[in-house]
This record gives sequence, structure tokens and C-alpha cells, in this order.
Amino acid sequence: MGRGEELFAEAQRYIPGGVNSPVRAFRSVGSTPVFAARGKGAYIWDADGRRYTDYIGSWGPLILGHAFPAVTEAICEAAKNGATFGLPTEREVRMARLITELVKGVEMVRMVSSGTEAVLSAIRAARGFTGRELIVKFSGCYHGHSDSMLVKAGSGLATAGIPDSAGVPAGTAAGTLTCRYNDLEEMKEIFAAGRDKIAAVVVEPVGANMGVVLPAPGFLEGLREITAAAGSLLIFDEVITGFRVSLNCASGYFGVTPDLWTFGKIIGGGLPVGAYGGRRDVMSVVAPLGPVYQAGTLSGNPVATAAGLAALETLKNDSGVYRKLSEKGEKLRTGLASVFKNHGIEASVQGLESLATVFFTPAPVSSYDDAKKSDTARYARFWKSMEKRGILLAPSQFEAIFLSAAHSEDDIEYFISAADEAARAGEI
Ligand SMILES: *Cc1c(COP(=O)(O)O)cnc(C)c1O
Repeated sequence: MGRGEELFAEAQRYIPGGVNSPVRAFRSVGSTPVFAARGKGAYIWDADGRRYTDYIGSWGPLILGHAFPAVTEAICEAAKNGATFGLPTEREVRMARLITELVKGVEMVRMVSSGTEAVLSAIRAARGFTGRELIVKFSGCYHGHSDSMLVKAGSGLATAGIPDSAGVPAGTAAGTLTCRYNDLEEMKEIFAAGRDKIAAVVVEPVGANMGVVLPAPGFLEGLREITAAAGSLLIFDEVITGFRVSLNCASGYFGVTPDLWTFGKIIGGGLPVGAYGGRRDVMSVVAPLGPVYQAGTLSGNPVATAAGLAALETLKNDSGVYRKLSEKGEKLRTGLASVFKNHGIEASVQGLESLATVFFTPAPVSSYDDAKKSDTARYARFWKSMEKRGILLAPSQFEAIFLSAAHSEDDIEYFISAADEAARAGEI
């Protein structure tokens, strides 16, 4: 038995399923967890010393790669001066100012400790500001695990949200309506039925939790118009896209300005961080300025803020970083697409910038309904064939490949040639 297997056996005695977040169980590819021991740049080493090129990237935060020196130094330096005070610190001011400088439309920012917390807080602020209760989300979009966001696809106002998880009160789920991604017609119907009750529409401006699904041309603009006309707020959940698709986030990239934003992942530099922000008048409802309560013992934590600030400042000061990420993403997507085409494997390789997903579908995916048509057994075979060759992909069809600045051209070429070899060997 390897060390990883030993650890997993022991973990299952003390931790539900042996993991602290379900996707780490690797069940949907019929495997068991890779126990990580250390990481450097684009690589990780597991508990048995096996090296992988890592395309999970901790599910989004690691745009600079593992143990990026400036981030590691910032963490150590901050920790030496005290891990937490429960008092405001200078770096929180710098972080908030930097976000407002980089993201057009963000005038005020509140820091929290996870993406989940960012979204639930932004929703509370939206409800407090509008005095309305309903929230519309899109099926296939993930906004963290708060009760009101764990809601399955229903259709329009007629079908109130049905909880996607046990333990979510039906009454809570009923406050969340769902719409098909990229479907403005359905959104118009939802607003026709209840426009004066809808506090906000929350959307991933690039869907990245059902595999990577791009917003169709006009989709985000349409959401902006519909919400503005109804006096509802538009919330961009940029926990993945923020500072990944561009330094100015997805709102800057697509030129659509929501009322509120949520951030996480990259802004923590690998430590637990989230933030929400937006229009000054909306953010002014948050306590102690206004009546919407939201708080956190470790919010704006000095060590986490130092890590996030180091990451953001690196991204801001390296003028070529996004162009290079973009080129590598393009190279990977076109390379993989031609491998599958050459071997007669039905696949849609989608994404943009440093994000990608290989959907084993005959047609491009533009909604969760499309994504669900994927051949997940084939994805599991693909996953295993790559794992065998030292390439670590997300253990699910419905996740993203995350590239980092640390992935080299050679890493990308190796990935493409490994896929070609596996396809040739009939392993996919
Ligand atoms: C990861 C994610 C979240 C939740 O963030 P956590 O830090 O895991 O709580 C929310 N929204 C989106 C779009 C995410 O990808």
C-alpha cells in the first residue's frame, strides 16, 4: 500500500469521505484522492513522491503557480508580525483600493474569508438595498454552498427552487429562481412574472462550474438591461473569473458593468479569502454604515491579505502575464481539439484565456442542459489516461482546466502529445 492509500484509509475514519471538500474524493472518475505533499510552479508531488503537472491549480487561486516566491515571502513576513488582530490593518486598505482601481464600477469593497461568504453577503446586501427577496441564478452556475445558492434547475417563477442538497429548508430554496444559462428569453419570462419582487440576478460571467461555458454574444448585456429596467441588481460572481480572464476581471473584459461583484480564489493568493463590492450606494447598506449585518472574526486577515495583495501586485506589474496565459490557453485548446478530431473522438474543447474544458459532446456546450449530455464515462477514461502520464486534471467532466503563469510551452506540448498517445492507444 502506498502512503497516499494509507492516508486515505485513515482519513476516512475521521473525516466524512476522507476529504474536506467532496470533489477531492475523485469519485466521479472512479478513483481515489491524490494526497498532495508539496507544489512548486506548475508541478505537485503526491504523498508517494510522484510528480504531476497540475491543471487543477487548487480550483482557481493559483494563477501564478504553486509557492510563487513573492506570495510565499509575503505570507512569511506577515505571519511574523502577528497572524490576526481583529482590528483593521493597512494592507486591507491597500487591497480595497487596488480592487477599486482595477475593476471599473467597484467603489467599495468588504473582505470576507471565502467565495461562499462573499456571495451570501452580496445577496444579503442586494436584498437589503432593494427591499425585495427573490434571487435568480442560472442552472449549472455555482455560487458556494450557502443554503439559498444550493438550488437545482427549476423553470421560471412557476417552479419555485427545489433544494439541491438535503438540509436546505424548502422555504429558503423557494426564494431562488433558476434560469437556463445563455437564455435571455427565459429570463424575460421570469421578470415578466415577478419583476418587482426580484432583488438580484447572480451570474458567473463565464460559466466555469459546469465545465467552461462562454456567455453568448449579448447575453451579459441583456442581463444588464433586464435587471436595470426592473430595478433589480446584477451581481457578477467573479470568484473564478476575477483577475483570471483579465486584470480588469470579466466585467472589464466583456465591457458589462454589474452593480455588485464577488471575488475569491486569486485575491487570496492561495489563502482563504473572499470579497464583495460594487456601487457605493449599494455597499452603503452594509453595517456599520447601514442596516445589513455582515461580519467576520478573520475577515481581512493580515496573512491572507498579504498573500492576495502580493499576487494581485505581481499580476498588475507583469505587463505580459495575461497575454502569455492567453496564448498558452489557445495553444492547449487548439492542440487538444485537433487530437480529438484526428482520432474521431467527439469532443468540444471550450474556454477562453487560461480556462478550458474538454466536453465529450458532439456539439458545443452553451448551458448546463448541453453539458449534461457529455459522455462522462469517456471523461473518466481520459482523466485516467492523463493521470497515468503524470497530468493531473480535475476529477470531473464539469470543471475547468486552470493554466498558470508557471505552465511552460513544453508543459502544454507534453499535455497535447500525451492526449495524442492515449487516443492512439485507444485509452480514451
Ligand atoms: C469557488 C467558487 C465559489 C465559492 O468559493 P469558496 O471559496 O469555495 O467558498 C463561489 N462562486 C464561484 C463562481 C466559485 O467558482
